[in-house]
Amino acid sequence: MNDLFLYEGKAKILYRTTDPTVLRVVYKDDATAFNAQKRSTIAGKGELNCAIATYILQYLDTQGIPTHFLSQSSSREMLVQAVTIVPLEVVVRNLAAGSLCQRTGIPLGTELARPLVEFFYKNDVLGDPLFTEDHIDLLHLATPEQVQSLKRLAIDINHHLQTLFAPCRLTLVDFKLEFGLNASGQLLLADEVSPDTCRLWDQVTADPQERILDKDRFRHDLGKVADAYAEVLKRLQESGKVKGL
Ligand code: UDP
Repeated sequence: MNDLFLYEGKAKILYRTTDPTVLRVVYKDDATAFNAQKRSTIAGKGELNCAIATYILQYLDTQGIPTHFLSQSSSREMLVQAVTIVPLEVVVRNLAAGSLCQRTGIPLGTELARPLVEFFYKNDVLGDPLFTEDHIDLLHLATPEQVQSLKRLAIDINHHLQTLFAPCRLTLVDFKLEFGLNASGQLLLADEVSPDTCRLWDQVTADPQERILDKDRFRHDLGKVADAYAEVLKRLQESGKVKGL
């Protein structure tokens, strides 16, 4: 299988398959934060994120969002459409947290009047800087039309994710999306959506540390990372929004 190796990222490994339009994604237990300055392994994280991402991508598919997801091929693997990745991280925020608080001084947990969409340039050397639409145009990372489509898709996905998480009693604070272009030039959601890439707060507790059910538990050494991810998966499965999962 080694000859089909394509790329190893921080949390996943990509392999080619015999079909050039299909890739195999293997979810690792590795965790990184702060531009990979903090690293560890969390037993079970790969399987949990693969199951959660499968659930969410299938749900988004039922809501008409184009995604790269094809099928889950094992407990920690999925088959996806091969795409050319747009080198942007598209972040949507409903409440202030993380780098938004640091950049603007808005207090943690402040509800935003409307969802905020931000673009970050995917570039580890530069530390994934915040980009304006003019920066994106300047570097030809996407056309202005594609940027508008990315924004629309991001807002639609936010709406669907909030609908999915609300009955799970989970608050979707913010999340990061990545998109790719398939051979016909269609923009597809082309990365996991999981507690590694979303901030999710448990509405059942008001305790500011207990309520964190996402990668902030790892970033800030709060412990019980896999337990938190397992809780997210359990609540999604109990919600019954995707049949058979
Ligand atoms: N995020 C991510 N990968 C990154 C950076 C951010 O998945 O490389 C997610 C992060 O988990 C959060 C959202 O994007 O849900 C916004 O992150 P933020 O800009 O606040 O950065 P952070 O505080 O994580 O450095």
